[in-house]
Formats: sequence, C-alpha cells, structure tokens
Amino acid sequence: MHDETALTHFGRDPARFDGVVNPPVYRASTVLFPNLAALEAASRQPFTGTYYGRFGTPTTFALEEAMAALEGAHRAVAVESGLAAITTTLLAFLEPGDHLLMVDTVYGPTRFFCDGLLARMGISTTYYASDSGADLAGLIRPETRLIFTESPGSLTFEVQDIPAICQLAHARGIPVALDNTWATPLHFKAFDHGVDVSIHAATKYVVGHADAMLGIINVNAAHHERIKKAAVALGHCAGSEECALGLRGLRTLAVRLARHQATALTLIEWLSARPEVRYVRYPAWPQDPGHGLWQRDFCGASGLFAIEMAPCTPEALAAFVDGLTLFGLGYSWGGFESLLLPVHPEHTRTATAWTTAGPWLRVHAGLEAPADLINDLAAGFERWNRAGGTVDS
Ligand SMILES: *Cc1c(COP(=O)(O)O)cnc(C)c1O
Repeated sequence: MHDETALTHFGRDPARFDGVVNPPVYRASTVLFPNLAALEAASRQPFTGTYYGRFGTPTTFALEEAMAALEGAHRAVAVESGLAAITTTLLAFLEPGDHLLMVDTVYGPTRFFCDGLLARMGISTTYYASDSGADLAGLIRPETRLIFTESPGSLTFEVQDIPAICQLAHARGIPVALDNTWATPLHFKAFDHGVDVSIHAATKYVVGHADAMLGIINVNAAHHERIKKAAVALGHCAGSEECALGLRGLRTLAVRLARHQATALTLIEWLSARPEVRYVRYPAWPQDPGHGLWQRDFCGASGLFAIEMAPCTPEALAAFVDGLTLFGLGYSWGGFESLLLPVHPEHTRTATAWTTAGPWLRVHAGLEAPADLINDLAAGFERWNRAGGTVDS
C-alpha cells in the first residue's frame, strides 16, 4: 500500500464505532473489569488491551498503530511530547556506568538532558561529529550501550550516514536510536535503514497545526517492551485529545509535506540569489553538503531549512525580523504557518568547531502562497539595508 493510502486508512475502524469515520476521543482514567478473573488476567498483561488510562486508551492505540505501520515499526509508544520520547528512550537503554554516543548536531534539549540528568546518574556522553562513519568505531567503549542519531541535525541540517552507523553498531550489539522528526515516517524509512528506535516530535508535522504537544517512539520488536516499560515507569502518557489531533494531522501529512517542500525550494532559490544571504542549509537543495546522502536515503524533505546571513549590525537584523508580517517569530515548527528564528549553533556544538561570520536564521516554509512569502522577505531586506545592512566581516 502506498503511504498516501495508508495515511487515509490506518488507525481507523468505523465498524467498531457505529460507522463513525474517526475513532472517538476516549477520556479515561479508570477502566472497569467485569469480574475478578478478568481483572487479574489483565494485570498479568497490562500492555495489551485497555487497562488503565495512563497505559493508553483506544484513541492512543489508534495513533500508535498508524504511526508504527507507516514507518514499518513493530509498535509505537505515544508520550506527551517529543522531548519525553527522547528522554524515555535514553532512560530505557542506559544505567549508571553506561556510555552513550550522541551526535553533535542533536536537538539542544536532548544535549542538556545528557549533560544534566544523565551525567548526574553516572551515565557519560561522548559527542561525535555528524559526518562520522566508520571512524565512529574508535569512540565505542566496552560500556557503550546506545548510539543516538538525528538526521538531518537540528539548526543546520547535517545528514548522517544512518545505514553505515547501524551496521557498525549492530556488529557490536549496540542499538541505534534516531530522532526522525524532520523527515517524519514518510520521508525517512528508519527501520529499512536499520534503526532500532525512531523518535518523532509529533508536535511538529504529525499534528501539523501548532495546537498540541505529542511524542511518538516507533520501535522494533526486540526493544518494544523495554521502551513501553520505561514510558509507564516514568509516568508518561499522551492525552487522548492530543492523540486524536495527531491522527487528524496524519490524514493530510503527505499533501502538506509536498507543499512545505516545494515552497522551501522556491524560497531557497530566491534567497540564495540575494546578496544578503551567504549560505543555505537544506538537504534537498542540490548545493547542500548533505544532498548526496539525502538523495540516497530519503523519500522527500520537509519545509525547515537554515540560511547564513551576511555579517550585519544587530539593528539591521532586528529591522529585518521585526517587520515581517507573514513569518512568525517563535519556537517549534511543522505547523501550517511560516516561521523565522535566529539560531546559534555555536552554543550547542562541542565535538566540532562552529564558526560563522554572519547570523543564522532557521526558516519554516508554511502553506501560504510562496509569492506572498517572498514579498514579505523582500520588504525585510529593504529594512535591513535601510538600517545599515551588510557590514564587512
Ligand atoms: C521540537 C523537537 C523535539 C522536541 O519536541 P517537543 O514536542 O517540543 O518536546 C525533539 N527533536 C527535534 C528534532 C525537534 O525539532
């Protein structure tokens, strides 16, 4: 079945709900059992069926089924945010004395968790360069229990050689986790490339409307119970309302992503011709350093990319950003609307040196008409130039 068809049909069972197209939002804490024998039987297998609200409701299970099937995972575990999906995965695999290999271009809060709570628990983290391949083997220690990847990386979108990393990890019995938020289950088939755990901040494109927080851990059969037990032990549970919003978002994910990608490329073509723009980072852009790997391994892109601006005064940058009317200024991405955010990769890199002359901006290409977005940016560059514009570095 093609992805577009799967998106339309997975996670639905109208016959179970009086013919209603979508599964209802179950509001549940207590789940009643008909008798003592049924209660005791359920308690022996709390991860199958509806047992207690915190373990999930039929709404949760519908979303989990759809997400797992789309990516070819054995099962999915829904939690209440993307960060909860990441921390659950890390805590599921790591104990005091263990060692973690973490990509240098990882999402900032993942790094802060490793350097904070994991370090306090006696779990050590080594950051490796995102372009590591076979050389990663040299960083593996006897106590290394997990290799964590994120491809493309946060803020600057470096693509990793995931199949090569999985091969060398599995040869040593080490599982590989991937933060696959940027590509979604549609555009990077993590399990086909050997990944054991694929994490999604469903807050972004899956929900897709900037109105809910949600995380999904897609996992293979070998590690499902470990992940589910960790999520339950930590008290994580995604709200049924949020799961229903995740399911709703999935139905249009393919058409939205196609538009996000097309608009991103249109904006990049225009931006890259501007004298105020030095570099573009977007794996689907042919000049991007990760374009070859992206072409080899991905089925598509999303609408998030970064640009390096020419060195400028703080006033010029503020004039550019503050006057934008269509691009919003704020965190997160993956909703229907365009966003633009100054970012500072130099604050979250330790294995690699990050030096830059000009400021970096992260751009989310929304579903607006590209011509309107270009007009908004063009007016921004006029303000930039009036405010002193480019300065020599
Ligand atoms: C946003 C994001 C997260 C965290 O998701 P939340 O739902 O905001 O907790 C994790 N990883 C990546 C790559 C993200 O962009």
